[in-house]
Amino acid sequence: MAVPKRRTSKSKKNMRRAANSKMVPTGFVECPQCHEPKLPHRVCQTCGSYNGKEVVSVD
Ligand SMILES: [Zn+2]
Repeated sequence: MAVPKRRTSKSKKNMRRAANSKMVPTGFVECPQCHEPKLPHRVCQTCGSYNGKEVVSVD
């Protein structure tokens, strides 16, 4: 069985991994109730609704 002659250096390992770890900005979706931007799969902070129903009371 073929075996690598040299262990991959820390530098080469980090260079390989850095290519796949780009920072992705968090996406926002529009709330269907109040049309404010909110985080996906989270309760809306403005109106407290999720999936068309109010689940958290907001002052
Ligand atoms: Zn909302």
